[in-house]
Amino acid sequence: MQTKIQNLPDGTLYVPDTPTIPFVEGDGVGPEVTRAMRSVVDQAVKVAYQGQRKILWKEVLAGGKAYQEQGEWLPEATIEAFRTYLVGIKGPLTTPIGGGIRSLNVALRQTLDLYVCQRPVKWYRGVASPVKKPEHVDITVFRENTEDIYAGIEWEAGTPEAEKFLRFLQEEMGVKKVRFPETSSFGVKPISRSGTERLVRAAASYALATGRGRLTLVHKGNIMKFTEGGFKKWGYEVLNREFEKEIATGKLIVDDCIADAFLQNALLKPEAYSVVATPNLNGDYISDMLAAEVGGIGISPGANINYTTRHAIFEATHGTAPDIAGKDIVNPCSLILSAVMLLDYIGWSEAARLIEKAICTEFAKGNATADLAKFMENGQPMSTSAFAASVCQEISE
Ligand code: NAD
Repeated sequence: MQTKIQNLPDGTLYVPDTPTIPFVEGDGVGPEVTRAMRSVVDQAVKVAYQGQRKILWKEVLAGGKAYQEQGEWLPEATIEAFRTYLVGIKGPLTTPIGGGIRSLNVALRQTLDLYVCQRPVKWYRGVASPVKKPEHVDITVFRENTEDIYAGIEWEAGTPEAEKFLRFLQEEMGVKKVRFPETSSFGVKPISRSGTERLVRAAASYALATGRGRLTLVHKGNIMKFTEGGFKKWGYEVLNREFEKEIATGKLIVDDCIADAFLQNALLKPEAYSVVATPNLNGDYISDMLAAEVGGIGISPGANINYTTRHAIFEATHGTAPDIAGKDIVNPCSLILSAVMLLDYIGWSEAARLIEKAICTEFAKGNATADLAKFMENGQPMSTSAFAASVCQEISE
């Protein structure tokens, strides 16, 4: 029986009725949120498709569990499973300290070249928010995931490398603008046409496919003219070249905004934005600020996606929360809503909508884990497992 999701030559996904989906349970609160997520997804798929479809979950190891069982933080078999089965999901992972081990999340992202970090930010009625009209927040961020100052090209002040780089700047490039040359660290910020084009193309295609119809390029091109400014220029160029008809007919409205103005506007008039494409560093700040507008990290979903090969790993956006691990109080919504994104990604939107609707109903009743319930008017703090069971019950009704 074929259980592999496949990327067809026309760019669509082939999804069997029983797809194998690899998952990493995660460290700390990972097992608790993963258990909750799987129970809710299984219930929604069963109800939506009357037993005709079913996810075949395949556990793969990463993080502390992998290290304990196999002596490796990120076994090759795990990367291979994500490569083979195309679409997977993961709980939070401990970042190993020392020993030259990279962040596991970064390693997975780089190995599969997952160039879009996608974060939908939407408010659910009942959840406390610091903004006056949270119902106006419905923004999906496409953050570039492979370039920018995050490429990790840096030299520490006082090292021979920093001195060598300084000499190169001064002697070969004629740079005179380094204010404190002797005590400066240096970093390099690569932003390319190729990297920008594939991100902006993915964001525009998403805006059209979801009927959102508005795309904003957020950049700091007024100051960093060739990197952030390049992002804006190349972004508009690829849009005008590949989406000319959609722009001309008003199906896709395109604009841009300077990053600092965007941060202000997203608080004051969030309804002005729908899909946002932005370089890596801006995207990091923007995603977390927007998440705070709708309830914070416990409820914000995310995914790392390569829209060309269609590899995608959906993930909880919070960390391993060691302070509350094993207490059955963690909010499982970040991973559950990431699974909603996954279901939409593979075209199982009926199941996705059932989950969203059930969560909305729970929140409207004041049912939530303590982190959210304590700020709700009619909040009823529930354990992780009781909340998941209540969502499953709601899906069946
Ligand atoms: P964290 O997100 O784990 O926790 C920050 C605070 O938020 C804690 O008080 C925690 O209890 C709370 N919190 C987080 N998620 C919650 C949830 N779903 N429900 C209720 N409360 C929640 O961040 P941290 O403490 O800085 O990091 C802990 C570990 O997680 C580190 O090893 C870090 O590297 C790792 N980390 C992993 C990821 C990932 O895998 N995607 C992301 C961030 C941090």
